[in-house]
Order: sequence, then structure tokens, then C-alpha cells
Amino acid sequence: MRQRTIAEKISCTGIGLHSGAPVEFTLHPGRIDSGIVFSAERAGQRVEVAARPESVVATRHATSLGGLGLTVGTVEHLLAALYGIGIDNVRIELGGSEIPIMDGSAASFVFLIRAAGIYEQPAPRRCLKVRRPIEVTDGARRIRVEPARSFRVSYAIDFSHPAIGRQAIENLELGEGVFERKLCRARTFGFLHEVHALWRAGLARGGSLDNTIVLDERRVLNPEGLRMPDEFVRHKVLDLLGDLALLGMPIQGHVKAERGGHALHQQLISELLSDPTCYEIVTGPRRPAFYAEAPARLVSNA
Ligand code: ZN
Repeated sequence: MRQRTIAEKISCTGIGLHSGAPVEFTLHPGRIDSGIVFSAERAGQRVEVAARPESVVATRHATSLGGLGLTVGTVEHLLAALYGIGIDNVRIELGGSEIPIMDGSAASFVFLIRAAGIYEQPAPRRCLKVRRPIEVTDGARRIRVEPARSFRVSYAIDFSHPAIGRQAIENLELGEGVFERKLCRARTFGFLHEVHALWRAGLARGGSLDNTIVLDERRVLNPEGLRMPDEFVRHKVLDLLGDLALLGMPIQGHVKAERGGHALHQQLISELLSDPTCYEIVTGPRRPAFYAEAPARLVSNA
């Protein structure tokens, strides 16, 4: 497996979930080993924040990254799309302070990446191989990762709500194309009383039935209904992948979550990285230098 970037730059505009205002961003191809970097101009200077665990500044409602005077909100659905498709290196130039919410899923970001095309770069991709299990709990919430032959996810949620109840995804192998087929269209969701509380606090001003599944006490309020019966748990897996993207490489291991959320996902990442006996970074040999001069190879340009 080699590192990947996008074939050419591509821009997109959408509404910011929190500001309610239009935001534009552009994805640019990234150099080998540069990872995923957010970049913006602040006070006449270009500032950058790497999509790394140490950049996380908030996990309430959504994941925000920050540093050096730059804060980027609602990054997780775009990061999920990049991680789900397997893009290692990309620079995201941002016109505002949050990634637009689009339709509340990662489908628009997948479309954008596919439209730009994908390049394989002449350098091996690293992978985080889990060597022994590690678990984080918070009351009835828990998440663990254990050794496995490939990258797998099991996720369960349990809401005492007639439209959700218990939903589970068991042992989903994140092979090529699985994110696009099974996860990317699942939208974020919220409860009407929470949405009202957020609006009163001046948050989620861009939130609407166009980008959130909203539930009252009994049912889904969106007139079009759900995209799939277990859309809620699928979105949870999408969010998990967006958070795991901060590792900067795929995992070889099985992540098992019960009622997880952004905060718990991030806790697992920091617990894992804080104990080097739990994992090893595996990588193939670098290609000889003369290959590095060769043009990148086009994998797909849908
Ligand atoms: Zn989400």
C-alpha cells in the first residue's frame, strides 16, 4: 500500500453548522508524509493546524482542531471521508473557521474527493498495528481496540427512543470501497429539545432538517425519513472514523464501541498513543530514490 493524495485541487462552498454563514474551502494535493493539514489566513499570515490528536481543542457536539490562532470546527465528516477513502496527504485551505455541514453526512466530501481524482504517491503507507487490547470506559459507555488481521469496527448504540432503540454494526471490515458503500451517506442526528437549547445558546445556527435528522419524543421529523433503517449507528461509525483519522494512518485492529461519542473516541486515541507497548507502526521499505522522481500514478478519476 502506498500513500495517496488527490490528483488536483478542488473547491466547495456550504453552510457552517455553527455560524449559519457560507464557508468555502479548497482541497489541495499534499506532499508525501505531509498528512492532513488545515490552512487559513489570519491577520495577513498563513497559519496551519495539522489533523493530529494534539490539535484537538473541543469534542462537544463536534470535533474542533486548533493552534496558533486558528480554530477549525466540525472537521470530523470531512476527515472521515479522507480516512474512509484512504487519502493520506492533503492541504485544506479554509475561508472561515468551520468545515461546512453539507447534508450532515460525508457524501458530498466523498463526491468532491472522487471528482478531484486520487493519486498514489511513491512512498509506502504506514499502518498502526495494535499489539494488545486497550479499553476506555465512562459509565455505560465504552470503547476498546484489540489486535486483528485487518481494520474492523463494531459499534452499538442504545437510545430509549422508539425511532432508534438498539442498533449495532458487527465486525465491519473497512476494506476498499466499504466507507462509500455503507457509511458515507449516514447523516448526523439530534433531538428537538437539544436543537432548541443549542439555538438559545447561539450555536448550530446553520442546523436544519436539510443537514440533521431531528427527532421529537416519538419520531423522525424529516419529511423524507431515514436513508437506511440503521442510519444512526452508521453515522456513529462515520464519526469514529473521522476521529481515528487524527492518527494519520489506518489501524490494523478491531475497534469495538458501545455508546461512544467524540470525547470517548479521542480518549481511546490518547490512551493508545500513550502506551507504546500497545502498538507498533509498520511500514514497507521506501522505494528507491529514482522512483520518487516519477510522476504519481492515477488510481481513479471518477
Ligand atoms: Zn457526525
